[in-house]
Amino acid sequence: MLKIENLHAEVDGAQGKKAILKGLSLEVPAGQVHAIMGPNGAGKSTLANVLGGKPGYEVTGGSVTFKGQDLFGLDPHERAATGLFLGFQYPVEIPGVSNVQFLREALNSQRKYRGEEPLSGGEFLKLAKAKAGLLKMDMEMLKRQVNVGFSGGEKKRAEMVQMGILDPAFAVLDETDSGLDIDALRIVGEGINSIMRAPDKAVLLITHYQRLLDVVKPDRVSVLADGRIVQTGGPELALRLEAEGYDAVMAEAAA
Ligand code: ADP
Ligand code: MG
Ligand code: MG
Repeated sequence: MLKIENLHAEVDGAQGKKAILKGLSLEVPAGQVHAIMGPNGAGKSTLANVLGGKPGYEVTGGSVTFKGQDLFGLDPHERAATGLFLGFQYPVEIPGVSNVQFLREALNSQRKYRGEEPLSGGEFLKLAKAKAGLLKMDMEMLKRQVNVGFSGGEKKRAEMVQMGILDPAFAVLDETDSGLDIDALRIVGEGINSIMRAPDKAVLLITHYQRLLDVVKPDRVSVLADGRIVQTGGPELALRLEAEGYDAVMAEAAA
């Protein structure tokens, strides 16, 4: 479903261009949850941003194919309409726009791109209510402005409601567990399972913590360090990282 080959990318920062991704290769077949772990500053969020097409990042080498298509040949909105979803480490607030307006507009513009009929207001509300229920979110919350005044945990749950409504084939979730208390973590994790665990879907799950992986059990775990994947294994790799830390596991990979 997603094939990343020898990806190189730079960020255009205050100090000029800086290479962040330095030959990253990774394949995620349909039906799998692939967890990405790695030290701060390794390039995990950069990978998510490059996949989503965020401005300010320049791809300087390598390729990414998504469902057999050249991902970089698609604009960000085309990537989304083709089934790529990005969950942000820090979801943004959109004052003046309600969640319901935002989500209906997002869904219908994607449907239009795919040549599908738009959902009516009634159809949309029914769908939104079902997905909000999955995340134990009140419809009243969805009538409020996007993320304005939401707690960290509410923002993450609202984002998972958005994912449920858009129903993507592939989700890149960047530290979706950050800032969640234990109950919210379970609700969000189970939401990810019910929305994304399917033979024709896949997830790239960026996280620092085993506690999310206890709920969303990964098929594969990779360590991203200094812009590359340095080790890949099964779920036991995450347990080892938690017990021994990145340095020990990475030193072994280097040897
Ligand atoms: P991670 O998510 O693994 O913690 P990031 O991808 O956020 O790491 O960052 C990787 C490196 O790129 C860091 O050194 C960070 O400071 C740098 N970086 C990321 N985005 C920018 C930016 N917009 N401007 C300058 N430097 C950036
Ligand atoms: Mg980080
Ligand atoms: Mg990050």
